[in-house]
Amino acid sequence: MSMLETRYATLPASRADCVLLDERDPLREMRENFLLPPNLIYLGGNSLGPLSRAAAEQVEAMTRVQWGQGLLGSWDEAGWMEAPQRVGNKIGRLIGGQPGEVIVTDSTSVDLFKLLIGALRLREERHVILTEAENFPTDLYIAQGVADVLGAVELRVVPRAEVVDHLDESVAVMMITHVDFGSGHRHDMRRLTEAAQRAGALALWDLSHSTGAVPLDLAACNVDLALGCGYKYLNGGPGAPAFLYVPHRLQGAIRSPIWGWMGHASPFSFEGTYAPDSGMRQYLSGTPHMLSMAALEGGVDLWLEVDQATVWEKSAALSNLMIRLVDEQCAPYGVTIATPRNVNERGSHLTLRHEQAYRLMRALIDRGVEGDFRPPDLMRFAVTPLYLRFVDVWDAVGCLAEILRTRVFDDEKYPERTPVT
Ligand SMILES: *Cc1c(COP(=O)(O)O)cnc(C)c1O
Repeated sequence: MSMLETRYATLPASRADCVLLDERDPLREMRENFLLPPNLIYLGGNSLGPLSRAAAEQVEAMTRVQWGQGLLGSWDEAGWMEAPQRVGNKIGRLIGGQPGEVIVTDSTSVDLFKLLIGALRLREERHVILTEAENFPTDLYIAQGVADVLGAVELRVVPRAEVVDHLDESVAVMMITHVDFGSGHRHDMRRLTEAAQRAGALALWDLSHSTGAVPLDLAACNVDLALGCGYKYLNGGPGAPAFLYVPHRLQGAIRSPIWGWMGHASPFSFEGTYAPDSGMRQYLSGTPHMLSMAALEGGVDLWLEVDQATVWEKSAALSNLMIRLVDEQCAPYGVTIATPRNVNERGSHLTLRHEQAYRLMRALIDRGVEGDFRPPDLMRFAVTPLYLRFVDVWDAVGCLAEILRTRVFDDEKYPERTPVT
């Protein structure tokens, strides 16, 4: 049975239907865990996930008790040393990794640097990093930097639809972001991974916009390497550490280029010569960022309380409702939908296009509906089932339609762009 033949076979036709659906929502109580400001419809969870009670409590305990009272003893007693693996294993359960295949460390950008170099060295007879033009800028920049450091490496950037056509015997690693940060388009992970491996390349996936957004099963897709962000759908807090995934079959074969003491086989023997750990710890660099780790663990723990299938089912229904309402109420004012309409080809955010997107988003935020703007003309809205209701989607689109109808976005108070939207 497909996802939509179930609870949400018929989408709500009125605001009252939305209220009813929310009352019967099996995830209804999960919303209480989030400390969202009142009177705000938060659709920015793909950019910065909101604060949860659990994350706030973990940070409080970490600062007041573990750091404040436990001091350095907390490295052992409060489990700080194991935190990168412990939280990594929790994320592993969400993405289809085995225990001991995921670790939390550094930022997505830095982890990508480490994995790309590891991949290129494992395929040393090849010299190409293959990616697509719409990849997130940091992924492109990091790859350019890797080419700069290693020399004799070519970054081959091709149109999204042509990745498979460019897989040849020169490609060492195919570096793809699973869900596009702009349009919300989702690649077929299994198909692309197979194609890369058939060509002898490694398949490296950036899951920043996928983890906590769409069903993932890295083992079933036989993914070689992956990484992702902690502060988007995982709700780990601003600057939360990232995670990286190396399956058991590649651990050791993929080597990190950053030889820090935390990746050493025996960090506390203080030996003068580097020798990597044999498991996931080898991908650590330095001391874990424990305050951010606490917030991330709080966010991730909430994910482990919910049935994943229920989350995806609601996510699909929320975005289907949003698409329908936008078609009905906003399309007449020139709004188009940049995200694929097929649920299997999208993530958990919807992107709308309008030539006045920036001003529209400012006007929305002024009215308590927060998404974000991406140049030149995109508005992004995350549909996050843990804390969003059907009624929120109903009201948010209603608000956008009202702004379009009354043209309040023409107001001269919406002229300039602010640095972060
Ligand atoms: C959010 C995101 C990142 C974030 O990288 P940072 O190092 O955390 O700034 C990287 N790649 C993609 C595809 C993203 O969506």
